[in-house]
Amino acid sequence: MGNKTIEIKLAPGYTEEELRQTVQKAARVKECSYRILSKGLDARKKEHIHWQLRVEVVADSLRGATPSLPEAWKIPYKKRTTKVIVVGSGPAGFFAAYVLQQAGFQVALIDRGAEVGKRAKAITTFEKTGTFDPLGTYTFGEGGAGTFSDGKLTSRSKHISLEKAFIVNAYIHAGAPEEIAWLTHPHIGSNNLRSVVKKLREEFQALGGTVHFETCMESIESEKGKVKAIHTNRGEFAAGYYILAPGNSAYDTYRMLIQAGVPFQTKNFAIGSRAEHPQGLINLAQWGVETLPGVKAAEYRLTAQTDNQIPVYTFCMCPGGIVVPATAFEHTNLVNGMSYYKRNGIFGNAACVAGIHPDQLAGKKVTPLEALENLENLETRFKTYTGNFSAPAISIKDFLSGTMPEKIPESSYPLGLTPAPLYDLLPVVVTNALREGLLQFNKKLKGYDQGILLGLESKTSSPIQAQRNDNGNSPGFNNLFLAGEGSGYAGGIISSAADGIKAAMEIIRR
Ligand SMILES: Cc1cc2nc3c(=O)[nH]c(=O)nc-3n(C[C@H](O)[C@H](O)[C@H](O)COP(=O)(O)OP(=O)(O)OC[C@H]3O[C@@H](n4cnc5c(N)ncnc54)[C@H](O)[C@@H]3O)c2cc1C
Repeated sequence: MGNKTIEIKLAPGYTEEELRQTVQKAARVKECSYRILSKGLDARKKEHIHWQLRVEVVADSLRGATPSLPEAWKIPYKKRTTKVIVVGSGPAGFFAAYVLQQAGFQVALIDRGAEVGKRAKAITTFEKTGTFDPLGTYTFGEGGAGTFSDGKLTSRSKHISLEKAFIVNAYIHAGAPEEIAWLTHPHIGSNNLRSVVKKLREEFQALGGTVHFETCMESIESEKGKVKAIHTNRGEFAAGYYILAPGNSAYDTYRMLIQAGVPFQTKNFAIGSRAEHPQGLINLAQWGVETLPGVKAAEYRLTAQTDNQIPVYTFCMCPGGIVVPATAFEHTNLVNGMSYYKRNGIFGNAACVAGIHPDQLAGKKVTPLEALENLENLETRFKTYTGNFSAPAISIKDFLSGTMPEKIPESSYPLGLTPAPLYDLLPVVVTNALREGLLQFNKKLKGYDQGILLGLESKTSSPIQAQRNDNGNSPGFNNLFLAGEGSGYAGGIISSAADGIKAAMEIIRR
C-alpha cells in the first residue's frame, strides 16, 4: 500500500461520484481511499470557475510511500499543583486555559460576560428592543467576540500551523463542520459556534477546569515583581500564573492594567465603516452569474494604496451575512459583521478600513492611554449622533461626493439606519483615505459604488500592544502574560487562539 498527492479541478456543483472518478483517473488507480487536503474556489477566470482540490490517495496499487498521517501536537501532561487564572473566555483565553488544563495545571477561567445560552437570549432581546444589556453584547461573554462571529478561520499569521491544526481539530471535535480542516476559506458560521463553544467549555470542565461567568476583573495586586491576586466583582482569585486575554474592547480593563504599571505601547491599527451590498451584485461581479451550484456566495478581498501611503482594505467579508451592533458599552455605537453557516442572506458585508497609527489620528504623539481614549471618544461620537443603536449610514456615492444622505436603501442591520454624513463623523484622515480606496475598489469590483457604508468599524485590531520580554511575560511581572487580540499580537479567531496557546506553552515550559 502506498499513497500519492494529486491536484484536481472540478466544476462547481460536482457530485461525490464525479469526485471519486476524477480522483481515480488522476491517480491512475481503480480501488482507493482518499481524503481532501485542501479545497478552494478559483474564480479568476469567469468563463472557467472551478474548485481546485489537493487530494491524498491511498491504494494497494500505489507503491513506495506509506500513507502520511497529519502531524499531531502533543501537550506534555504532568501531575501538577500550580494554579493558573485565565481572564477572558474568548479564543485566546479559552485555548490557553484548555491547553494548560490538559497539561495538568489547575485552571480557573473568568469572564465578565454570561454563559452562551443567557448571552444569546440577551442579544436577541437587544436586537428586538434596542435596549442595551451588558450581558447581551457581541463582545463580552462565553467564547468572547468569537462566539457570534462569522467563524471564518482564515489567518495570515505564519509559523502557527501546528497550533492552527490543534484549534481546528478541537472545533471539529466539538461539532464544527469537518470541511474546516481542508477548505482554503473555512468558516464555522454563527449558528454553529454557540454549541461548539459550549461543548469545548464542557470538555474543559470535565478535565477539571473551573469557569466563573459574570465575574469581572477590576484590579490586580502585585508584590516583588509578581502578581499576587486579581480582584473581581465576585471576590479575590490567587494563583501561580495569570493569563489575561480580555479582547479588544475592554477599555476599563486596559486602563486599569496600564495604571497598575503593566507596560504597553501604541501600534498601527485600522478604522473605517462596514460596506454592504446586495449579495447578487457581488456574485455577478465575481462570477459573472448570480448563482453557482454548490457554492454558497461570492467573497471578495480588496486592497488599495492612497497617494500618501495609507493602506485601505476590506476585511472580515461576510458573504450572505448580517451587519450587527457590536458595542460592548451603552455609551458607544459601532458595527461588525457575521454570517450563518449557509451564508444565504440577501446581503454581503465587509469592513472597509484604513490602516493608521494612533499618532496620525491625533496629529501628535500619544500614549497608550490617550490612544484608547481617542478611540473610545470616536465610538461615543457615533452614539451621540444617533442617540440610539441604529447605525449611522450613507450610500457610497454620497460618501464619495460629500452629499448629506436623505434615504438609505434596505440593509441587514437589525436596529435600523440613521442617514448620516459619515465623511464628517470619521476622522478626516480616514475619510480621505477611504474615498481614494473606494474609487479604486469600484474599478476592481463592478458596482461597488452601489453599496452603502454603515457605522464605525473600529475593532479590526488593537491600537495598543502589551510589551513582552523574551519569556513572553509582561516586563516587571514574572508570572503575568497578556494574550490575544487585545494584547496587540493577534487579530481574528485563529491567531488569537494561537497566541493564547503560546502563552500557555511559556508557562508549561517553566
Ligand atoms: C461580530 C464579529 C464577527 C467576527 N468575525 C470574525 C471571523 O469571522 N473570523 C475571525 O477570525 N474573527 C472574527 N471576529 C474577530 C474575533 O472574534 C476576535 O479576533 C477574537 O474573538 C479575539 O479573541 P480574544 O480571545 O483575544 O478576545 P475576545 O474574543 O474579545 O474575548 C475577550 C473576553 O474577555 C472578557 N473580558 C474582557 N474584560 C474582562 C474583565 N475585566 N474581566 C473578565 N473578563 C473580561 C470578555 O467578556 C470576552 O469574553 C469577529 C468579531 C465580531 C465582534
